[in-house]
Amino acid sequence: MLASSEPFAAEYACLHARFALEALAYDRVQDYLLEVSADAMNGWTPKAVLRELLYTDPEACSPVNVTIGWRPDPDGPLREIHLGEGYRFSARWANKMHNALSNFLHEPTIKQAAEGEADRRQKSRDKVEEALLELDRVLASPLSSFRAHRLVKTQCKCGSLIARDLDFIEAGKIVACSACGRVYNCRYDEAQHRFEFWPQQASWTCIDCKTFNSMDAHELKSTSVVECSCCGEKFKIETKPILRRIVDEDDNSDK
Ligand SMILES: [Zn+2]
Ligand SMILES: [Zn+2]
Repeated sequence: MLASSEPFAAEYACLHARFALEALAYDRVQDYLLEVSADAMNGWTPKAVLRELLYTDPEACSPVNVTIGWRPDPDGPLREIHLGEGYRFSARWANKMHNALSNFLHEPTIKQAAEGEADRRQKSRDKVEEALLELDRVLASPLSSFRAHRLVKTQCKCGSLIARDLDFIEAGKIVACSACGRVYNCRYDEAQHRFEFWPQQASWTCIDCKTFNSMDAHELKSTSVVECSCCGEKFKIETKPILRRIVDEDDNSDK
């Protein structure tokens, strides 16, 4: 396409390189379907997805080198098979390249127009060639979706399976259901040797009968009316802006 003398060849090449970039980012997410948030999946943009991917697994876009080791004879030497290397683009590079390619897919700005059409076309050709070089490297990688992880699983109230890597949970990151978005707290139960999950709660005290009410925080997303479990009185939840003092962090630090 780049070799063509067709006037819009460079733009078409930018568009196709951008599609390829998006497809690879999306492909990467397929390995994490149970682990990424519903918001990221619904609001699919490469930027949001790559950010979510790196939150879920900081190593998601790093190259991997896979070797299997085993000891056929318990007293014998360790034997290893090298399965190869997996090369993946970095999320930062993908984001930058996606933006750069997009820049050539709209009418030139006044500044770009002043540079002249030939200059702009040459710049877009250079950029797309840079993108294709990296995309070829990723596609030529013998290992594409290898992942070494220790998944901890639980079932959401909505029935969907939630899974997160042990490192993710131990880092105290937010565990949310990929299907409904319900957010969970979790803790390790020493006696049962397993993790316990429970949905984040929202609580309020009835202003009439003073009963303490509690509900899934997730339910507040779909309603703005709550009902007291004791007296049945209904209340509307409203938000109002409040003033919060800005505390300079330096004032609190011990100098
Ligand atoms: Zn759910
Ligand atoms: Zn009440």
